[in-house]
Amino acid sequence: MSIISLARPEIVAMKPYSSARKEATDHGTLLNANESPWSLLGDAELDGSGLANGLNRYPDPQPRELISRLADLYGVREEQLLLTRGSDEGIDLLTRIFCRAGKDAILQCPPTFGMYRIAAQTQGAEIVSVPRLPGNDFRMDRDNLLETLKNDDRIKLLFLTSPNNPTGDAIDRDLLLDLLRCAAGKAIVVIDEAYTEFSSQASFSELIGQHENLVVLRTLSKAWGAAGLRFGSVLAQEEVISLLLRIIAPYPLASPVISLAKRMLADGMHKRQLNMLREVQENKKRLLRLLADRPFIQQIWPGEANFVLLRVHDAQSLMRFCAERNVILRGYPGEPLLQGCIRISVGSEDELAALKLVLDDWDKHR
Ligand code: PMP
Repeated sequence: MSIISLARPEIVAMKPYSSARKEATDHGTLLNANESPWSLLGDAELDGSGLANGLNRYPDPQPRELISRLADLYGVREEQLLLTRGSDEGIDLLTRIFCRAGKDAILQCPPTFGMYRIAAQTQGAEIVSVPRLPGNDFRMDRDNLLETLKNDDRIKLLFLTSPNNPTGDAIDRDLLLDLLRCAAGKAIVVIDEAYTEFSSQASFSELIGQHENLVVLRTLSKAWGAAGLRFGSVLAQEEVISLLLRIIAPYPLASPVISLAKRMLADGMHKRQLNMLREVQENKKRLLRLLADRPFIQQIWPGEANFVLLRVHDAQSLMRFCAERNVILRGYPGEPLLQGCIRISVGSEDELAALKLVLDDWDKHR
């Protein structure tokens, strides 16, 4: 069964917009895009930016060089990769393609990343939640998940996160395989790997060739230290990528973003990125050491990402106390399974020192 049959029929039927830059290359006398022939920022102002064209020109919608570099990095074929404005855009596009408003649903396993819910609500799709099991390890509710997926025909997208935000656990491979089999022919399984580089588990992108309903999301926001770039990739079989290309904005990546991404992904940078990753792992150990043996902490989940989750006495007061001293942490007041929980990102040594000072004060204050 083709994946196309899972998409909203109106998306499949629609004639996609064809942008000027898609129709013609960026060479020659360009009089096809109503661009200005001049840029207010000249070569001098753009010095060092490495823009392929001036700022007056629309950018390449999907630069080949970046696709090729990332396909290589993520272990997929070039046709299996789409460049997006961060994973957030991938989540939004998938929801808009596969969920009919008022009819179809996404399936999620809270506590998890909040944008799956937002994308579904924006699209008018239903949200089916199979919460993780109460208890100390936030285990996924395997039986309930498989049963729900099997019986609820509204579900078109299953969002899984590995490692999960904010619990930090990586998904069990056998569970993922069972879910992929159960969803075959009826739903897309999206595995959001925003934090996968921090984890010991290998990416699931190698399964894309074997499971036509698998989509993997990757981003440069976390382990590549480029959240400000807004740059992500959707990895999926070619049919899914062509569906996404039907509705993605004509020029999703700004010219400066493209040129900075090229620089970030140039030869030699991967080594620097791996060094940065090692530093995060070292600082995570530091963070765990500075949290150890504090009486106000009831439990710590170190997880496999660049953050840790804690359960503390009086989370709200602690968060306020920290914020008043300019140390900003993340709390979950509205999340039933995360009462009293706080998430702390792994920072630089200076940032961890600032955190330590505040927590020492809090220890004394209580
Ligand atoms: N997925 C998860 C699990 C996240 O935690 C986040 C951001 N916190 C994102 C996706 C968003 O990634 P991006 O910056 O690439 O949009």
